[in-house]
Amino acid sequence: MPGGIYVISGPSGVGKSALIRRLREMLPDLGYSVSHTTRKPRGEEADGVHYHFVDKETFKRMIDEAAFVEWAEVYKDLYGTSFSSLRSQAAQEVDVVLDVDVQGARNLREHFEESVLIYVLPPSIGVLERRLRERGTDDEEAIRKRIEKATEEIRNCVWYDYLIFNADLEKAVEEAKSVVVSQRCRRSRQLPKAQGLFDITGP
Ligand code: 5GP
Repeated sequence: MPGGIYVISGPSGVGKSALIRRLREMLPDLGYSVSHTTRKPRGEEADGVHYHFVDKETFKRMIDEAAFVEWAEVYKDLYGTSFSSLRSQAAQEVDVVLDVDVQGARNLREHFEESVLIYVLPPSIGVLERRLRERGTDDEEAIRKRIEKATEEIRNCVWYDYLIFNADLEKAVEEAKSVVVSQRCRRSRQLPKAQGLFDITGP
């Protein structure tokens, strides 16, 4: 893929969507790979923008047709990154952000070794619990399950490249932006341009 791939994961309620939204406001040339899911839209979510909402049969047919780079079952629903969604962005030398769970991150790293993995952490489990409650989309039982899953899931941060604590959204966005910008400055990304401008031979 000519563009960079930035994989963002983190427990439910950590503020990943807000972080990605703000990051893309700050870096408007950053693409977003819209996943497919079998879960129902929540609130203001629009088809083709937040997700491609499909039924189970469609999703299973796509699995059979090898349409997904990766897919996973998360909270009893199916989620997947299609090759076409990823390619439509990354092929145009556009950097692309993905919001996927830890299974997805592992699979994407296997496919695209150069992908950059970022894990978003809450300042504490207590804060995460409070945010889930404030979001008001889950009952007590669902919150308990999400916290249980988060405690387990967070252990996976050990194999991510970057860890970002989301205590303050703007600070977290600034950190994520720094990761993207520093990747863009890597020699491998800049050397072709420099070689086009100056008389430079190999490293
Ligand atoms: P939500 O239902 O809250 O939007 O997402 C639930 C979980 O599914 C989140 O952890 C999110 O990162 C993950 N997810 C969203 N899209 C994908 C995808 O395409 N692949 C995988 N593996 N996980 C995804």
